[in-house]
Amino acid sequence: MLKSNWHTHTYRCGHARGKDEEYVLEAIKAGVKRLGFSDHCPYPGVVDEGIRMNYELLEDYCSSVKYLKEKYKDQIEIYLGLEVEYDEQFLNTLIEYRKEFDYLILGQHGLYNALDEKSYFISTDKELDIYCNSIEKACEKGLVDYIAHPDVCLWSYPRIDEKVIEVANRIADISLKYDVPVEANCGSGVLRGMMSYEDGLRYAYPTNAFFDVFNKKKCKIIIGLDIHNPELFKTEEYLNRVKDVLNKSGCEYDEDYDLIADAKRRKEKFLYI
Ligand SMILES: [Zn+2]
Ligand SMILES: [Zn+2]
Repeated sequence: MLKSNWHTHTYRCGHARGKDEEYVLEAIKAGVKRLGFSDHCPYPGVVDEGIRMNYELLEDYCSSVKYLKEKYKDQIEIYLGLEVEYDEQFLNTLIEYRKEFDYLILGQHGLYNALDEKSYFISTDKELDIYCNSIEKACEKGLVDYIAHPDVCLWSYPRIDEKVIEVANRIADISLKYDVPVEANCGSGVLRGMMSYEDGLRYAYPTNAFFDVFNKKKCKIIIGLDIHNPELFKTEEYLNRVKDVLNKSGCEYDEDYDLIADAKRRKEKFLYI
């Protein structure tokens, strides 16, 4: 099992199971030494049923994680983070989160625009460009500490083509330019198993198309469990699926990455534009 996992959800987002404490107990049993909670962040006034917690739950999320951090401090290090999308309209909220939380990860789930339009389904070149632009903005502004599932757009985009390779290169360049690692994600992309696309059978993500490029450009790669159920700490099956993809691309990766040290450095550098 990973020694450090920075991608952990709670029931508050509406699509994860179990009590917060169960995640901690199962992580300890599995041998995890550093556990970061990074539930889907709320935006004030936005209700996204089954996608993210409501803003009213944020305080309870913070106090629960802090309580567990103290209670289990002799057995595991616990950190308080959030998974955010870049959304211009909520830039002030994101900056507040940046200051208050130990770290933030970027999960740019589609063409996210919390107020006007929520489309998780990317299927055109233009949409891929918007996706990349959002990732670039978040990194350029120093808001996030890693790019979660950088190829999440490929669950809906129907094929690996030249445009996809261009996007992979662009995200690799963003990662290098702003020194923000990319994540190989053990969440639903591998949980669902191989899927049939125009380019053949593959996991929705992570994909060799992206990780070949990340390997070639020597991006820093972190594995994230993206865990939505404490029971999943009991198996390494999905982690191994991700490692298979990484090994096939020849990637080196860090299973014990100190995200907090990097987050502190970034916050000092950017606090605050
Ligand atoms: Zn989720
Ligand atoms: Zn996640």
